[in-house]
Amino acid sequence: MPAAQAMSGTRQMRPGTDTKKVALVTGAGSGIGRATALQLAAEGMRVVAADIDGPAAADTARQIEEAGGEALAVRTDVAQDADCEALVARTLAHFGRLDVAFNNAGIAGYPLLTVEHSPAQWQRVIDINLTGVFNCLRHEIPALKRSGGGAIVNTASIMGLQGAVGGSAYCAAKHGVIGLTKSAALECGRDGIRVNAVCPGFIDTPMTLGAESIFPARMLQAGVQRAALRRLAEAREVAEMVAWLCSPRASYVTGSSFTVDGGVTAG
Ligand code: NAP
Repeated sequence: MPAAQAMSGTRQMRPGTDTKKVALVTGAGSGIGRATALQLAAEGMRVVAADIDGPAAADTARQIEEAGGEALAVRTDVAQDADCEALVARTLAHFGRLDVAFNNAGIAGYPLLTVEHSPAQWQRVIDINLTGVFNCLRHEIPALKRSGGGAIVNTASIMGLQGAVGGSAYCAAKHGVIGLTKSAALECGRDGIRVNAVCPGFIDTPMTLGAESIFPARMLQAGVQRAALRRLAEAREVAEMVAWLCSPRASYVTGSSFTVDGGVTAG
């Protein structure tokens, strides 16, 4: 039995019976993923909310349904290829198509110098933040081709554009996401599939401000000071960029990375 399990859903549909767009969001149980799942649903898409935290994914699906949308929650560990395969299969079985994917699930990494990382700590960050995107793309791209094209957005970070003391595994993974995004875009363009990356700066989510945040308050304060806008972003401000990239309004945009960082990387 695949590890990915359907948690909830509005209805079972026969494949091909509905042309309303279907979006898959990983890390949809919290932060940027949840905000984006809600945004895409508000823009009329049916949404598959995937997260390693099954109840959190189900809560996002419930919020979408309460707002009048259609959603399916699927517990998924993106570090497991079989989970990602099962996630796409569940999406196709339930909604009959896949048009949009937001590969967003990730962890913060460890605040350790390069020489302080154990191989297991390094591997965990790479497995979730980089291989997790690869695992999703591997199974999403054939499904998008079947739908006649679509759009994919991968979550990188401003740490995919620059280094950080004490962030080597996270930075390596996020730089990798940008390279993977460019390669996939080149490979998929002829199939009408656009692939882009979003690079958030310092965002107000449980990853940065939650009880288990690894970021010291002084680091977040420094981040705010580096931002031209002198504040953290709200998750919905990243969701707006992702929704735009997934829409026909971005029809000639592919292979690119977009910062949503309040100007942190402008200086
Ligand atoms: P978040 O609030 O912690 O949300 C991330 C979600 O992903 C959580 O529900 C988490 O579940 C889930 N997740 C973790 N590992 C997973 C796995 N292996 N498979 C599936 N789901 C998994 O964090 P966020 O701030 O929204 O971050 C979303 C993305 O943005 C990440 O890729 C992050 O690196 C990136 N990002 C965030 C910031 C920022 O300032 N917040 C800045 C730049 C980039 P658990 O809570 O159970 O772990």
